[in-house]
Amino acid sequence: MPTLEEARQIILGHTRTLGTELVDLIDSMNRVAAEEILAPWDMPQCDNSAMDGFAVQSSDCTPEARFRVTGLIAAGAPVIPVEPGCAVKIMTGALIPPGADAVVPFENARMQGEYVEFKTPVKFHQYVRLAGSDLRRDELMIPVGAVIHAPEISAIASASRTHVSVFRRPRITILSTGNELVEVGELVTPGKVVDSNGVSLAAMAKECGASVQMLGIARDTVESHIEKMTAGLQADIFITSAGVSVGERDLVREVLADLGVPLEFHSVDIGPGRPTSFGVKDHCLVFCLPGNPVASMIIFTELVRPAILKAMGYRRVVPVAVRAILQENTSKRLGRIKLLRVRLEFNGDSLLAFSAGEQATGILKTSLRADGLALLPAARSSFSAGEEVEVHLLSNNVLMQQEEI
Ligand code: AMP
Ligand code: MG
Repeated sequence: MPTLEEARQIILGHTRTLGTELVDLIDSMNRVAAEEILAPWDMPQCDNSAMDGFAVQSSDCTPEARFRVTGLIAAGAPVIPVEPGCAVKIMTGALIPPGADAVVPFENARMQGEYVEFKTPVKFHQYVRLAGSDLRRDELMIPVGAVIHAPEISAIASASRTHVSVFRRPRITILSTGNELVEVGELVTPGKVVDSNGVSLAAMAKECGASVQMLGIARDTVESHIEKMTAGLQADIFITSAGVSVGERDLVREVLADLGVPLEFHSVDIGPGRPTSFGVKDHCLVFCLPGNPVASMIIFTELVRPAILKAMGYRRVVPVAVRAILQENTSKRLGRIKLLRVRLEFNGDSLLAFSAGEQATGILKTSLRADGLALLPAARSSFSAGEEVEVHLLSNNVLMQQEEI
């Protein structure tokens, strides 16, 4: 049985980055660049003013000098050359005119009628944004593999590009299994369980940027499983939940074998989430998650999400582990990693990890309070309040100001 880390390595070893597609720049947020983008020209293209002020020749600026103001250059307006002994008003972003090599901000200048004098010495190129000072023509702006966020969109837009090539999003099919399940919105009678996994897994996959197709519920018959699972295997990634333990009606693995899907593993040495299977059929990655909603969400975070991100071209795919100080004594089974659901608080110095509540996997409300998963290592069974643990963040909220507005 692989450890969590080994399971992740097996999965990532089978995960290929998908092909590419051209998308509108505005839709490229959180996607990964599949093309290298070079600066098409010097940026900025020409020397321009960094301030509202006066364009002057710095060598004319002796301590007592006065300059006649001969005009104004607005951003985007044609330049007015600066004659010796003169200055021209200039706005931020306006081109530096011939005859000038520096800008004196208004706050460092004093007007006297049509003349201006400067309160401070003027240096060559002061408050001038030089051509190419940001990027030189043909300098690498966006490498292949860059995750596109607002600064990348801004850079690509500044090269006047409307579209960008990115790695494709995986198509993901999601299937719930079990006779006890009813669709969300249906009448829930005793003994029935609402299929919450379908929507929670779909929502998490969408959050990663995947395109999701929900296949509904396979009933506990071989025929129903074969029909739904055949459809599921058409995707890049196929996720099922439940029916993977050794219950008499746990058909998922049996049907996968019938459909010719070899499993790389059928359990992971982790709690919660042990009954997790993974296999590959042609180009489709198949994840069979436990039925328990808490366990399936944890396994999604730890094992499925990294594969989705790698398929989308991400190179950093493993959740970042922050260090937090455990606030309660905790014990667990020796020899298996435990993911403890914790609530995090920042005390201004360190992150504090409080148990988010009862840790039995049946207790969903503990997940409602959890900000992260503390990774309690396999090799130890007891942990004391005050010691540091690694925590995978489930929400970014903990990094926000603790006081609510
Ligand atoms: P199983 O893996 O089939 O033994 O299911 C484990 C537990 O998860 C049982 O209590 C199921 O009722 C529950 N469960 C299975 N599938 C889902 C689902 N799609 N949504 C919510 N709970 C589920
Ligand atoms: Mg079942």
